[in-house]
Amino acid sequence: MSRTVYVNGAYAAEEEAKISVFDRGFLFADGVYEVSSVIRGRLVDNRSHLRRLHRSLSELEMNAPASDSEIESIQYELIARNELDEGIVYLQVTRGAADRDFNYPEDARPTLVMFTQKKQIIDNPLAQTGITVVTTPDIRWARRDIKTVGLLAPSMAKMIAKRAGADDAWMVEQGFITEGSSNNAYIVTDGGVIVTRQLGHEILHGITRQAVLKLADETQLHIEERPFTVAEAHSAKEAFITSASAFVLPVRSIDSIPVGDGRPGPIAQQLRALYITAVLAES
Ligand code: PMP
Repeated sequence: MSRTVYVNGAYAAEEEAKISVFDRGFLFADGVYEVSSVIRGRLVDNRSHLRRLHRSLSELEMNAPASDSEIESIQYELIARNELDEGIVYLQVTRGAADRDFNYPEDARPTLVMFTQKKQIIDNPLAQTGITVVTTPDIRWARRDIKTVGLLAPSMAKMIAKRAGADDAWMVEQGFITEGSSNNAYIVTDGGVIVTRQLGHEILHGITRQAVLKLADETQLHIEERPFTVAEAHSAKEAFITSASAFVLPVRSIDSIPVGDGRPGPIAQQLRALYITAVLAES
């Protein structure tokens, strides 16, 4: 059955929806996006996602296409029209359509596109087994804190992982892990300390990262926000990732080296359970 999508003020069947060939998202990757998860038909952490959307837009001197409450009502309208119980709502804003020119156009109207995707997030089988990752050089641009639609480098990283028989890639810069191809990366040291890279231009400021670190802190778990090396990752007691569409997923091997005993670690499992409980309580 065809989905209903949203494009610039109108709902349309996915086959009918159209974007200009001059849209700068298409020509320059001149656009930003957000992915909010949906559990029991309710958006998760959506306020934080919209806050980050505004930050991305302002870093690129782009106008918001609609108010937060308008955006949220479109998100819920799509959830309703597509009868989405569990999955994600994708939202993309580009600078709009204009004659091809590197300079930002003066008068373009931002393009707003949204669609839904079904996904089993809570009963994800990977939560039981953990995922495998391989490390690969981080070849992305220097402003990874802006959530742009320029996703070719992470797409290439995912293909490197796939060809190596792994589930995902962790990206490496100057010997340190920055983050996963589409998630934030964490290790747990022998001393039980959760280590994840500090916020900066080098990584995306994950919304799930923010929520999970808060839960970890409230649970009296120890957190260090600092870069960690590939060698530290290889000898970690536990490893895991966070993202809006994965929540928390344990990592069971890094570069084919088992993490701990090669099974999901207790801290990753605890944080996943805590986050799911918090999300269900909200929904
Ligand atoms: N880092 C990168 C590079 C990502 O693409 C994502 C997911 N979009 C994340 C981290 C996780 O962010 P969030 O928890 O907001 O989904």
